Amino acid sequence: MSAKPSAEGSRQPRPQETRERNARIAATARAHRFDSAVAVPFICECSEARCEELIRLPLVEYTSVRDACDFIVAPGHQVDDATIVRVKDAVWLYRKG
Ligand SMILES: [Zn+2]
Repeated sequence: MSAKPSAEGSRQPRPQETRERNARIAATARAHRFDSAVAVPFICECSEARCEELIRLPLVEYTSVRDACDFIVAPGHQVDDATIVRVKDAVWLYRKG
């Protein structure tokens, strides 16, 4: 069985898909008992398909921004159909709509 990525069908918008990947990164970091103060590399959740920016956040901060918004992106990056709710040094927070 190959895990070939497919571009067809019901692909989610990149911010939604990336958000789910980040949730898995956070879950993995927790499972490996990462020190919650150590920065973990998360993927920028912007709408730019070619974006490869990483957002380094301690798990504890990821958890708090996750509760405060729908998408987290690298500073200056944008999410379609979403508005900025907070701007920080390392990360910008967007909310849908
Ligand atoms: Zn980005």
